[in-house]
Amino acid sequence: MWKETTDKEENLLIYTEEIRDFVPNRLLDFHVHVFHEETLKGDDPGFPLPGTRIRSYTIPELMDDMEKIYPGKHCSAVVFGFPDLKYDSDVNNRYVAENSDHHTVFPFRLVKPDEDPLRVEEELVGMRFLGVKPYLNYVKGKPPDEVEIHDMLPAGIMEVIDKLGLMVMLHIPRKGRLADPVNQKQIAQLAASYPNARIILAHIGRAYYLDNIVGQLDRMEKFENVYCDTAMVNHWEVLEYLFQHFDRKRILYATDLPIAVCGGKSIEINNQYTYVTSQPWFLSISDDHGKLVFTSFIYEQIRAIRKAVERLGLQGEFLEDLFYRNGSTLIGKVMKERGFQV
Ligand SMILES: [Zn+2]
Repeated sequence: MWKETTDKEENLLIYTEEIRDFVPNRLLDFHVHVFHEETLKGDDPGFPLPGTRIRSYTIPELMDDMEKIYPGKHCSAVVFGFPDLKYDSDVNNRYVAENSDHHTVFPFRLVKPDEDPLRVEEELVGMRFLGVKPYLNYVKGKPPDEVEIHDMLPAGIMEVIDKLGLMVMLHIPRKGRLADPVNQKQIAQLAASYPNARIILAHIGRAYYLDNIVGQLDRMEKFENVYCDTAMVNHWEVLEYLFQHFDRKRILYATDLPIAVCGGKSIEINNQYTYVTSQPWFLSISDDHGKLVFTSFIYEQIRAIRKAVERLGLQGEFLEDLFYRNGSTLIGKVMKERGFQV
């Protein structure tokens, strides 16, 4: 089994000794991908994960995994599809909308830059989405390295998001990430021009190595509608920097399930980063000698959060905010403005 959950004894031990009493009883994961088989076209072999491929990751499977990752906790999640051009995003979006209850599961819509903003608006409203998930691969006619945020989120679509007061789960493009001046400028423009939109920088702006955010993240802090999610960040120094230099009420616990339940860790090497996984994966260096016992990216992330939190003496209230309240407050505001029952 590719999942590192408490079904395995070594994970259960980590959970009981390091995680159970540290993590609050309620938690909201702000970054999860789900899809069902109909999303795939034809004989697609499925989404590649370390050592396996999956042809679906459904909401019931997610809820079951969360129960096994955090036994005894009340779990909820923000979910969206897999932003891969090969998959049918309409089918994926419908699945997400139809299976979210706005109580424990909150839906975001995959959005492509060439979609008609009117149709996007109709679906966002009609299918009760709370946000959108754009992605750089959806931008046509440019090498992925040259994609800009404005290419992913054209004005027509941002006007709709702003009008509805929805959230944007933004995986920023470009090699320099938060340190890239084009990104810096365009995040600032989005935040200022669309004050009702809530911009979430996924993976703390993809800050998997410290050098990338020092002096950069700080510049995003002044935009009150900019948030950070912590998905896949396993680096305690990055997390410590985030907790010190960013409004603590705008930090959202997130994992990037289903990837995050695989055995692995993201690590910094010489001002860069890589994933190290137990099984081979196209994005990672893997332990082909089978020397190491891995646990999940999720547990490595929580360990890193714990180390940062203890060093800063935060604990209690901060943890409630990080793991649950910041996210649920944000969702509550969006739902209230949209007239949904909170
Ligand atoms: Zn993701």
